[in-house]
Amino acid sequence: MRIRKIGVVGAGTMGAGIAALAASAGVPVVLLDIPGEDGDRGGPAKKGLERIAKSKPAAFMDPDRIRLIQTGNTEDDVELLADCDWVVEAIIEQPGPKQALYERLEKILPEHALVTTNTSGIPMSVLVQGRGESFRRRFLGTHFFNPPRYLRLLEIIPTPETSPQALAALTAFGERMMGKGVVLAKDVPGFIANRLGVYGSVQTMRLMQEHDLTIDEVDTLNGPLTGRPKSATFRTADLSGLDVLKHVRGGLAEATGEDFTMPQWALDLVDQGRLGEKTGAGFYSKQGKQIQTLDWKTGEYRPQEKPEIPGVAEIAKKPLPERVRGVLQLPGKYGAFARAQFARAWHYALTKAPELAYDIVGVDRALEWGFAMEQGPFRQMDAVGLDVVRQTIAAEGLDEPELLRQAGDRFYSEDGRTFLAFDGSRQTLPEAEGVVSLAAVRRAGGVLEENAEAALLDLGDGVALLEFRSKMGTLGEGVIRMIATALERVDRENRAGLVISHEDPRAFSAGANLVATLGAAREGRWDELDASVRAFQTATTSLRKAPFPVVVAPFGLTLGGGAEITLHADRVQVHAETYIGLVETGVGLLPGGGGTKELLFRFTSELQSYEEADLFEAVRRAFGMIAMATTSTSGLEAKKLGFLREADRISMNRDHLIGDAKLRVLDLAPGYAPPPPRVINALGNRAIGNLRYGVWSLHEAGQISDHEVLIATEIAKVLCGGDGPPRQVTEQDVLDLEREGFLRLLGTEKTQERIEYTLKTGKTLRN
Ligand code: NAD
Repeated sequence: MRIRKIGVVGAGTMGAGIAALAASAGVPVVLLDIPGEDGDRGGPAKKGLERIAKSKPAAFMDPDRIRLIQTGNTEDDVELLADCDWVVEAIIEQPGPKQALYERLEKILPEHALVTTNTSGIPMSVLVQGRGESFRRRFLGTHFFNPPRYLRLLEIIPTPETSPQALAALTAFGERMMGKGVVLAKDVPGFIANRLGVYGSVQTMRLMQEHDLTIDEVDTLNGPLTGRPKSATFRTADLSGLDVLKHVRGGLAEATGEDFTMPQWALDLVDQGRLGEKTGAGFYSKQGKQIQTLDWKTGEYRPQEKPEIPGVAEIAKKPLPERVRGVLQLPGKYGAFARAQFARAWHYALTKAPELAYDIVGVDRALEWGFAMEQGPFRQMDAVGLDVVRQTIAAEGLDEPELLRQAGDRFYSEDGRTFLAFDGSRQTLPEAEGVVSLAAVRRAGGVLEENAEAALLDLGDGVALLEFRSKMGTLGEGVIRMIATALERVDRENRAGLVISHEDPRAFSAGANLVATLGAAREGRWDELDASVRAFQTATTSLRKAPFPVVVAPFGLTLGGGAEITLHADRVQVHAETYIGLVETGVGLLPGGGGTKELLFRFTSELQSYEEADLFEAVRRAFGMIAMATTSTSGLEAKKLGFLREADRISMNRDHLIGDAKLRVLDLAPGYAPPPPRVINALGNRAIGNLRYGVWSLHEAGQISDHEVLIATEIAKVLCGGDGPPRQVTEQDVLDLEREGFLRLLGTEKTQERIEYTLKTGKTLRN
């Protein structure tokens, strides 16, 4: 079944967010809310949409996609839903209004339309009361997390009556079109993620009090140190809202009869309106630039501290399992707190998993995708070692749960391919269609070449993949060498083509390795620097010249040299969440790996086919993007800005990115010929003058420094084909100008200061 258009009822936080995500995916949406009382009957839905359009971080991947959303109210416009294939309900969390809505939907929706609820806790069995058999077959839960664009998890909750077709259609749509990580959950209070997550949060608060720790200390122990997000326990709670936490834990306590008690001082915060981020204060508060932490004993805020917990520095750089084991052994109250916390969290996951989920894989994914944990509880227990888990649980006076007994030494096999099922058998993890796992390729002996920074893998069907292995995908000498090796080998072995991508969670590439560059510049090794810029230019341009298709599949941060590699692909298969930018000016440089040249040729070629076109517009566009270090906030926006072309494609789901890129290579390979070399008309010194005029006005207005004028002038020279009369230029002509400008800037003290500052702080120095 194809979902072509969707309806969303309830234009609040969740409904409007889901609508924005679907529209970002290119799907038309009808968004309804209750009628307005002030004469504008469509007001509430319109306001909901306006609110989400302004939300930060942005809910839309491209603000223009708002045009795919039609708003209305549930009394006058309900027939707008009549041609929707899926209607998701995200109204007030009360059974009565939800049931009344379904009763109306049952009458007007086509026989095939799916209906889902975003409820966080009302049982499906209650919601479908009174509905007919056909409706029940098409009804299920789709539990998105806030904000729907950024939180990866989508829990899908089928009922015993939901048809397999309905479940399959929504799972596929959720994964492929909306890019979510789908986990099937059972129809129980809190489903998987909230049940375990909220249990963990309230336990942590209580144990903090019992063991007399501070909020800063707990967030240090519960952050990246133990494989959890930077926001750890308390900042996460601030982000989701203390009122939400209080409400959800109340609902869970009532529905399960289990102990979800929050300490009184935390409940008091809610009564005082200290709800977290949205009210400016919660467990943390921001005073100007300074972050303050709540002293839970007094209710006052104190400047945030980086606590010195004895023993933490010694383990901080170790691999995750050793860090967790290390935290469990910390001296004094810290270790005692950690042991109690882990014991309870593990014990709860072990005893509740069969009730909440269909398998342990679902539990792990729910916490990894919903709470940004590096490893869900079962993977974590395997990593720490089940003997340690057993000891920790026993020392807290808890019994050994059945699942732990059945596990023996491990929950997952060493290679991660099989796992312990709830019936005690070992099952194989199903392979998801269209998903290429590089770990599996490596396991199967698919490594063709490797060095410390990069590798070449065999993806099968004649397609090779070049992966960066350096930290943040930085492009050093090893990567450049691997590009040459890859191109040579794919050609020699007559393979179909090459994909460039990898599996880092955050960054395709943070750009060139500036440590080596700065060192060489400081020591005046200019011949070496000239050679390395040439080598980088050769690497990027040779991607274009290869006699087979090269598809680059970037994701996350794709900056500087990473953007230049992307710009030289035959086609780009981009992840929806990709932040591409030529950001070299931030470190006082210009894009010297073909990035300046590529934007110039791309924008000029587009205009050259119009006889009367003013080519200066193309130059100005490229100049603006490079000088301002414009960075896209999504794959869609990268297209709009011109980093990507019409033929480049977006994968909404990160897991499908490499598989999609591989298909792209196979699609392009038959009859492939590289694009011919290009020549354009460069505009020469008059155009430089025009660009400089604008730069000067900014300088006069005090907005940019002398050094920024110099950087901008160097960029202008490259984009105008040098400081002479207008002339025809080849790509190599402009590459030469790029390299010269790059090296001149690198020779200045101010640029070297910028690089040093960025390497030290990760920030930009505006000198
Ligand atoms: P919200 O209060 O922000 O929005 C609810 C919207 O529904 C409002 O705009 C309201 O006017 C509208 N509404 C209320 N009754 C209606 C009716 N009878 N017909 C049409 N519209 C109606 O709420 P929310 O946070 O977006 O939550 C919506 C649903 O999603 C709830 O079931 C909630 O439990 C669930 N949920 C919320 C979150 C979250 O973090 N906020 C996360 C997951 C699930």
